[in-house]
Amino acid sequence: MLERILGIIGGGQLGMMLTEAAKKMPEHISDVIVLDPTPNCSAAQVGAKQIVGDFKDKNAILELASKVDILTYEIESGDSAVLKIAESKTTINPSPETLRIIQDKFLQKSFLKDNSIPVTDFVEIKSFDDLRKKIIHFGYPALLKARRDAYDGRGNFKIKSENDLEQALNYFSDKTLMLEKFVDFKMEVSVIAARNTKGQIATYPIVENIHENNILKMTIAPARVTKEVSHEAEKIAKKTMQVLHGAGVFGIEMFVTRQDQILINEIAPRVHNSGHHTLQSSKISQFEQHLRAIIGLDLGDTTLIHPTIMYNILGPDNFQGKYKMPDIKFDNLYLKMYGKEESKPQRKLGHANLVDVNDAGINWLLESINSLKDKIKPIPT
Ligand code: ATP
Ligand code: MG
Repeated sequence: MLERILGIIGGGQLGMMLTEAAKKMPEHISDVIVLDPTPNCSAAQVGAKQIVGDFKDKNAILELASKVDILTYEIESGDSAVLKIAESKTTINPSPETLRIIQDKFLQKSFLKDNSIPVTDFVEIKSFDDLRKKIIHFGYPALLKARRDAYDGRGNFKIKSENDLEQALNYFSDKTLMLEKFVDFKMEVSVIAARNTKGQIATYPIVENIHENNILKMTIAPARVTKEVSHEAEKIAKKTMQVLHGAGVFGIEMFVTRQDQILINEIAPRVHNSGHHTLQSSKISQFEQHLRAIIGLDLGDTTLIHPTIMYNILGPDNFQGKYKMPDIKFDNLYLKMYGKEESKPQRKLGHANLVDVNDAGINWLLESINSLKDKIKPIPT
């Protein structure tokens, strides 16, 4: 039998679902090893071997690289310079060079703009004076963003007027920054796209993302947009994959403006929360697709078989500690918990997919999820 060991930097929920997908293709992947700082991390609970260590620990990354035939990651904050060194020991996908561009929001947007892919106006910010001068061209509100290591909107500061300038800059202390024109969008959408090592490209249908407190709360597949918008988003996603040359699955977050224009907000070089619906809604999940892409298999079918809502199960505010989930039985509702021992406010603990197998419609999906909301909730124990 073929010996091909997969390594993943990060063993949280994404690493977990990648491991589960890998275990379903033993003819292609014989074993999985993850690097994660939490002993018995989510991925380890479903059969991955684990090196306990920090995502940025150079020795731990090199150790992992020396043990695997192909290396990938579930987080984009890895050290691309260390990964470049690790490339002498194993194959890494997406490549460290692709990661280097994507993990810096300013480099990423510059790259997209240089390739004529639509993004909102943006500019690098070096100092307070710089900010004061440049924001004049953008107008208010504008968004000051940390270029690197941001997640769940924590690296963003909305500047509403001149009075906010100082506070905005102080919020970031010594981080490298960029300024973005505020997009008055009517919807946030995303396209999960894949490119395999042979250059083949596939996209899943456009989905609609609903955020609460800057965290993804719900994904509606497919998005409630016109055919033209969905076609345009697909075209932009495909073009992005062509110029990026990365192998793997990428989550491409976009805005639909009030004029139905599509702008890319940001790209995640990994499987994405807004693609979790594919576990039930599609023939091939984004996790299997990612593995197929990085090991050079033909990409799988991305057709959306049934409209589906993905609802994130987040840790309730004002509670930290052990919890359990209630027993919920509802036709075609699939709960996926990530095996995290403790709940923390807004922590992603799991998700639920509700699949519309009877073609009852998106409104039925929305109403049903709404009626289940209070039940799909962790209970403190
Ligand atoms: P996450 O981890 O949630 O994907 P992040 O911390 O990397 O995100 P962004 O994706 O850049 O941050 O922004 C978070 C949210 O802020 C977006 O989903 C969107 O709602 C809003 N946002 C970001 N940029 C803009 C913009 N230029 N105009 C208007 N809203 C924006
Ligand atoms: Mg984002």
